[in-house]
Amino acid sequence: MAKIHNLGFPRIGKNRELKRALEAYWSNQCSEKELNREVAALREQQLSALESLDFAQVGDFSLYDHVLDMSFLLGNVPDRAGTSEHELDRYFRIARGRASAQDCCATHAGEMTKWFDTNYHYIVPEFSSTTRFELQADSLLQQIRDARGLGFEVKPVLIGPLTYLHLGKVTDDSQKLDLLDDLLTQYSQLLARLNKAGVQWVQIDEPALVTELNAQWQMAYKYAYQRLSDSPVNVLLTTYFGELAGNLDLVCSLPVEGVHIDAVRAQHEVDILAERLDASQVLSVGIVDGRNVWRTDLAQALTLLRPIAQRKGEKLWVAPSCSLLHCPVDVNAETDIHPEIKPWLAFAEQKLEELAILKLALNKQPNSHAPLDDELTIALAENARVIEARQRSLLANNADVQERVAKVDVSWLARNSNYATRIQAQRAILKLPPFPTTTIGSFPQTQAIRSVRRRFLSGAMDERAYHQALEGVIQETIQQQEAIGLDVLVHGEPERNDMVEYFAPFLNGMLTTQYGWVQSYGSRCVKPPIIYGDVSRKGSMTTRWIEYAQSLTSKPVKGMLTGPVTLLNWSFVRNDQTREATAKQLALAVREEVAELEAAGTRIIQIDEAALREGLPLKSSEWQAYLHWAVDAFRLCASGVADTTQIHTHMCYSQFNDILPDIQRMDADVITIETSRSQMKLLEAFKRFQYRNDIGPGVYDIHSPNVPQIESIQRLIETAACSIPRERLWINPDCGLKTRAWAEVLPALQNMVQAARALRNNSVDLEEEELTLID
Ligand code: GLN
Ligand code: ZN
Repeated sequence: MAKIHNLGFPRIGKNRELKRALEAYWSNQCSEKELNREVAALREQQLSALESLDFAQVGDFSLYDHVLDMSFLLGNVPDRAGTSEHELDRYFRIARGRASAQDCCATHAGEMTKWFDTNYHYIVPEFSSTTRFELQADSLLQQIRDARGLGFEVKPVLIGPLTYLHLGKVTDDSQKLDLLDDLLTQYSQLLARLNKAGVQWVQIDEPALVTELNAQWQMAYKYAYQRLSDSPVNVLLTTYFGELAGNLDLVCSLPVEGVHIDAVRAQHEVDILAERLDASQVLSVGIVDGRNVWRTDLAQALTLLRPIAQRKGEKLWVAPSCSLLHCPVDVNAETDIHPEIKPWLAFAEQKLEELAILKLALNKQPNSHAPLDDELTIALAENARVIEARQRSLLANNADVQERVAKVDVSWLARNSNYATRIQAQRAILKLPPFPTTTIGSFPQTQAIRSVRRRFLSGAMDERAYHQALEGVIQETIQQQEAIGLDVLVHGEPERNDMVEYFAPFLNGMLTTQYGWVQSYGSRCVKPPIIYGDVSRKGSMTTRWIEYAQSLTSKPVKGMLTGPVTLLNWSFVRNDQTREATAKQLALAVREEVAELEAAGTRIIQIDEAALREGLPLKSSEWQAYLHWAVDAFRLCASGVADTTQIHTHMCYSQFNDILPDIQRMDADVITIETSRSQMKLLEAFKRFQYRNDIGPGVYDIHSPNVPQIESIQRLIETAACSIPRERLWINPDCGLKTRAWAEVLPALQNMVQAARALRNNSVDLEEEELTLID
């Protein structure tokens, strides 16, 4: 009898209940008691979705982040959390810098970074030579008791010791692996306590096993799991997000009672594991995709699972590929999804229902003569019908789009001339001063703007009034930028809730949801659009706003688009064609908008690729293949313009060293990037690489409310000028300004423009000096 289980469930709630409760608590609008009550209700709601499973996972819920929970469980809490008796205060201080609005001991929050290749951000554990661990298991044990009390067989979820070390950062020159022994002592104690509490199985997550590990780390895995094998609790070593590849032998050699594998991303390794694991070891097959929103093809899943079930019997467990944290909760909440498309979708709750059907099917005696119309037969037939309908649907398959994509040839991927020629032509037309100043696109998204958008969406405001209201905002934004003295203006993006979601309604093959929230970090969620079919542009997406903004000023206004790779990486994508093919379709759609903007007289067009780096595979050996098609997609959307049209791109991170050849191959005339926090260090890499095109290194950090001083901006630009020739430098903040208030933005941009002016004056002196010398 195969068993079914789950690795983790979304914790934000169907209606983002957790977000509301947390934010009320942080702003002192509710007490800790009320927060706890809300959380208890939410936990019950979540547990009730697990009823059909053989095990309910416990320990995956978190008030902010499960990695931070692990740090607290292990007693690895930075001193700056304070010594207060109040654990929740200490927790929120590291999570977000302060316990609540009136916290007297605010501090700097832990660093946040992406959880593997997902859009979820975790709080980075901090290690140093003085790190000592001390198990604090009471909270976890309480959760176990609570779930038991509701009648569940529980399976606690822990992050494994090596993945925990892998995820952290060392703040001095010590070595992470030096901490392993001490850490394992805590894990051993924890397993002992879990055993005492009656736990049979514990899920130990080691997704670091799908990255490329060197010999030292591989050894450390052997050592660690050997040490933990003394425990009477059964360990399910859980891997996900990719193939084990070079770590497959290692995993097979570890003395654990079970292994979970991601059967979506590492399908061909499932059979290998089934063969190589001991008869006594459990194989957990993650067949239901935890990273996407599609219904599982149950017939196909059963073809894979049946032979394993025969071989392994009750040692076969079936599960989602990874935690369902990365999925929305319930597709049944959606009321606006096209009725033909909705049945194709499965969110977290539906995925667990699929597991229940799989279990029924696997455990049915092959020769039993159950009546044909039993529940299972109906469910499987319904699934087969839905899968087939999706394959045949004209909403998913558009012959026109496929034909157009097939016609793309390499000449579409290159501009007419090289950068050196183009930039001359652009300079002649744009006539910008040296060190041109600009911004990244968005201006403050005020309450007023949000409320206008909300009223329009809900039908409370008609289109005319909506357009008028937004035009009013754009007018003000242009006036402000002129008053500040910026050289290249933007319309400010007041029409956009989000740089990806905004575009979905203008594209065939893409839809947005009402409640499809996925946790990004803490109480913050994103609502990724769903790409369900061949993508093409329905019509104009941005031009009316850019044209309007341009009509108000003689300075150039930048057209503002999101690039194909970012549209792809921040959406749920089709699983019936490659990401590369979808990226190409998106690129063609964006290319059409670029052409329309150019025809409307836009001289500068920015195509943001904020998420290009995010798409990098977890294994560096796979990077080149990705970068090849991703950069091609950018080139495809950006190359259809005349030499005189200037293409900008923006990327808001500071790690470029390892992908500079690819950034160069994008061949944007101007790239704006984040550098202010690293004091322009990054530019040295651009210099070493001899990057050829224009660069706008962000001169101040928009994530901070502090207003940058003229001198500090000037210093940064001067540092930048050591690496990049002055004539190729642009001056701009390091990202969009939508999260800031006008009161912060105005003085910051004024200082930025002042700094640029001061530098121009210095440069004029320099040029004159040079001239005299030549004389
Ligand atoms: N143009 C976008 C903005 O300014 C870019 C956002 C981003 O890079 N994340 O908001
Ligand atoms: Zn940015």
